[in-house]
Amino acid sequence: MSCYLDYNASAPLLDIAKDKLIDALNKVGNPSSIHTSGRAVRAIIEESRIIISELVNASPDNVIFTSGATEANRLALASADKIIASTIEHDSILQQPNVKLIPVSNDGTLDLSSLENFIKKNKNTVGKTVVSVMLANNETGIVQPVSEASNIAHLNGCYLHCDAVQACGRIKIDMEELGCDMVTLSSHKIGGPKGVGALIVKDNIKISPIMFGGGQERRIRPGTEPVFAIAGFGAAAEEAIKLPLKSMYRVRNYFEEYACKYVPNTIVIGKNMERLPNTTLLCMPKTKSETIVIALDLEGFEVSSGAACSSGKVESSKVLAAMEVKDEISRGSIRISFDNTIVKNDAIRFARSWDKIAKNFHLNR
Ligand code: PMP
Repeated sequence: MSCYLDYNASAPLLDIAKDKLIDALNKVGNPSSIHTSGRAVRAIIEESRIIISELVNASPDNVIFTSGATEANRLALASADKIIASTIEHDSILQQPNVKLIPVSNDGTLDLSSLENFIKKNKNTVGKTVVSVMLANNETGIVQPVSEASNIAHLNGCYLHCDAVQACGRIKIDMEELGCDMVTLSSHKIGGPKGVGALIVKDNIKISPIMFGGGQERRIRPGTEPVFAIAGFGAAAEEAIKLPLKSMYRVRNYFEEYACKYVPNTIVIGKNMERLPNTTLLCMPKTKSETIVIALDLEGFEVSSGAACSSGKVESSKVLAAMEVKDEISRGSIRISFDNTIVKNDAIRFARSWDKIAKNFHLNR
């Protein structure tokens, strides 16, 4: 049986989310209708809204449902006059128009002094500036200094948006403690259905819609809501609030320890950094990640090569390049990401396959 280790690309749908989703699919009506059926499906949306607001310590009125994190990121930044982001953000941030990029240090975290210097130098430009910093990186799992970035942003009249997609359900997200004005979430990374996400926007922040024609989601995101998807998202969020068991850190450490024990030249990216409990980025120098991904698949382990590729084409990792990891190392990197159904024995079995693949590359002797 294959062992799925690609949760950061998409987590399997939780049974509880599937049940809620199917229940909602069986309901009739438009949530904007005022008759009984309309009100019943509206109630499903509002129930999910409450749970999702609790997940990030915001108020339900702050939650705007979207088609996913890609749209939420666009919505958060579309009304900014200037966007400042770190070089390791997701492409849905990096590919927005006129983004000014701030480097990361070799340890994989945002370089706060570069951020501060850049903001101060450009302070006198008119308009709204939004700084966008992810809470944890999708490839390395390295946790970013969001509250420090938020202090710098706020002291200089800017706003802070945080893409918390990968952190959600893995570490705590408290918008107040982190000082976030806006937070992006995605349902399918936490065991909800694909195609739904949310932007959480604090009361004092004004953003404009990017689509027009309806009064839904406080006129910020018009269009009839996908009730079934929002129902599933809410159920998955209820699980995400509980956060993973501490044992998940141990399992991550087993993956790293055994991979290094069997193949001593294995490199663990960000080993000593604060990282997500479910993510590890392993490199087998002088190999190719595509080849390892295929070889591991044949061994029954589904992993991804650095960044999940959206086009089926594998490119070398921008995140590792930003951290100035040597090409010969980053080319052989694979990401393992999981939940608490994965145990120590899976890590040991994985390491045996890792060793077998290394031997095929004639590497570890
Ligand atoms: N941000 C991050 C950090 C992600 O990892 C992803 C998904 N790979 C997204 C945004 C986009 O999420 P969605 O699939 O919901 O559009």
